[in-house]
Amino acid sequence: MHIGHWFTFSPADAHARYKRMKGFNVFFPNGFDAFGLPAENAAIRKGVHPQDWTMKNIETMTSQFGTIGTMIDWDYKVITCLPEYYKWNQWIFIKMFEKGLAVRKKALSNWCPVDQTVLANEHIENGKCWRCGNPVIQKEVEQWFLKITDYADRLIWKDQKVDWPKQVREGQNNWIGKSEGIEIEFKVQSSKLKITAFTVFPETIFGVTYMVLAPEHPLVSSLTKSSNMAEVEKYVKIAKGKTELERKTLERQKTGVFTGSYCINPATNKEVPVWVSDYVISTYGTGAVMGVPGSDHRDFEFAKKYKLPVVKVIGKSGDDTKRSEAEEVLEEGYLVNSGKFSGFKTPNPAKEKIKDWMEKEGFGKRKVQYHLRDWSISRQRYWGTPVPMIHCKKCARLRGQGIVPVPLKDLPVKIPYEVDYTPKGKPPLASATDWMKVKCPKCKGPAERDPETLDTFFDSSWYFFRYVSPHFDTLPFDKTMVKKLMPVDVYFGGAEHTLGHTLYARFFTKFFKDIKLSDLEEFALKRVQHGVILGPDGYRMSKSRGNVVNPDDLVKEYGADTVRIYLCFMMPYESTAPFDTKAIFGVYRFLKRVWDLYDKVGRAELETGDLREMYKTIKKVGEDLDDFRFNTAISAIMTWLNFLSKKEKISGTEYSNLLKILAPFSPHFSEELYQLLGNKSSIHLEKWPDIEEKYLREEKTTIVVQVNGKLRDTIRIESSKLKVQSEIEKIAKASLKVQKYLDKPVRKVIYVEGKILNFVV
Ligand code: ZN
Repeated sequence: MHIGHWFTFSPADAHARYKRMKGFNVFFPNGFDAFGLPAENAAIRKGVHPQDWTMKNIETMTSQFGTIGTMIDWDYKVITCLPEYYKWNQWIFIKMFEKGLAVRKKALSNWCPVDQTVLANEHIENGKCWRCGNPVIQKEVEQWFLKITDYADRLIWKDQKVDWPKQVREGQNNWIGKSEGIEIEFKVQSSKLKITAFTVFPETIFGVTYMVLAPEHPLVSSLTKSSNMAEVEKYVKIAKGKTELERKTLERQKTGVFTGSYCINPATNKEVPVWVSDYVISTYGTGAVMGVPGSDHRDFEFAKKYKLPVVKVIGKSGDDTKRSEAEEVLEEGYLVNSGKFSGFKTPNPAKEKIKDWMEKEGFGKRKVQYHLRDWSISRQRYWGTPVPMIHCKKCARLRGQGIVPVPLKDLPVKIPYEVDYTPKGKPPLASATDWMKVKCPKCKGPAERDPETLDTFFDSSWYFFRYVSPHFDTLPFDKTMVKKLMPVDVYFGGAEHTLGHTLYARFFTKFFKDIKLSDLEEFALKRVQHGVILGPDGYRMSKSRGNVVNPDDLVKEYGADTVRIYLCFMMPYESTAPFDTKAIFGVYRFLKRVWDLYDKVGRAELETGDLREMYKTIKKVGEDLDDFRFNTAISAIMTWLNFLSKKEKISGTEYSNLLKILAPFSPHFSEELYQLLGNKSSIHLEKWPDIEEKYLREEKTTIVVQVNGKLRDTIRIESSKLKVQSEIEKIAKASLKVQKYLDKPVRKVIYVEGKILNFVV
């Protein structure tokens, strides 16, 4: 386990322990998301079978969790690479197939040439594979998809019924990217072909002076005239070698090539040239984009470069019809050069009026479009859940449906152990010939298994449902237990899961609701996201940089509880900061002082001030733990420790309360001292200390305010502030009764502490 794991679990464990002390029945499970590329690649590097390597790691990690001292209930663990778990992945996949949500299709996909597999859009960072960091290329691959797009609208965060961070809600909404626009048909000149373009700016239709197709657009070859063929083919070939990111980079100047064909702008009936350009991506929209150089800056650059006409369609007023070189595109304005729509205000009502007109004329159709794509779910790798499908040639021929699900009673389809799993660009399971051969469940003829495996994010999309009944064998989970324990109250995790895991998990939750497995629309009431611990040098920890902090070494030197507290204390849980080698020593000293304080425990009278400090701290630490402010909770305990250390003797009540509020953070240390105090029961089963509110109310003192020795008002001041004259003057001056007499400059102020404040004017 690395320090990042410790950071994920230590504060979360403190929260869970605190809730238990507050009297809640806390279910704090954990598991191992154990399939996937990292395990497989590491196993290949080390020459160990992925299964052996994974199971060994699970063993090691379990004992390391023991070192952290988490209260995780291991009776409820989930290990996703075991058949008892992935059987239900297969069951869910078949249910999705039956509902038309799992589909096999050929699509231009993100392909990692190093990991030899397709990747979901969510797992590409800056055009690179999120695992190995190598550039991803576009490759046509037949594969399985989950139609998460069918749930696009339901996945949009609308009203906030659950407490999830704004960055997740906004991030997911942007990723889903709902846009309401219209599909417009452009007839190709002297041909029966039509080009359909999607736009959210139909009001600019009169300014369309050219049309652009993506290089992959199916009409490119039929539209290209023979005289233009060589140039277009060359351009298309180069474009296909580029990554999607390279193609979409905004800074880059657009390039393109003319097909030789024209289509008709249905609004103006003028012919507009059809171009091919790689800034148009075929997987988004229709793969055809209208060029409106009069109202789009980059289209303007393109038109200028290729000498295409520019027509201004949005002006500052109805007469503002000429476009100048440096003109900015207007957010709002009036349509110009737009036939009967000239003079209409943009965007509205112009947009809706033009949409109505297009639909009425029959060349436009309103359409809602999403940026979200279907989830590419199958991988051409070994270490994953086998896709539970059978391919039958005879059924394909006779029934037109050659893909047959494995009968549910035959699940799980287990992964064969003896397989050459090194990546070769095709699924390793395909080489397991005995395993591949199977009888078709429909026609009983010879058929083949599907050799692909499911993306590991399939496994993690629903494991929280499984925790409540990890060995349940009738359905993916025991519905009664889910009713009892779900939704999850607090879901801890990293911010990197905004566009992948948590979005998928919400999709599965909604699917389970639809097939009546549960009635939850969202699986977690609250999401708490932690930040990242950087290396001591301020860079992301990596072996190549040599800045990796090893928690095992820290535990050896300072003990697990010091590491736990340090991780709670070093920064707000959601922040990112470098590991501080000096600061961890400070935490070690803090615990040592708590230990030494044991010697001061004896007969001590608790005075009002002592009680106030104690209750104030208990209250603050509790509130901070409720709100996941682990660092300020520790600060409050440190402040109280300073107070206690100054005293000659401290009472047993003070010391055991100090241990109790430390217990969620330093479970071993607190337990040890608690036993030394003579307690027989575990500190972790004790109640969180109660507070007596009356001691929290601070005493106030009345101060007489005089002007030139005459009483003008009285004010009430908290006893702790009586020494701060400036503060008292400020409060006194705010009194209207006093202000009346302060019409001349104040020459002198006399303050008798805690009694009189006299302004001399
Ligand atoms: Zn068959």
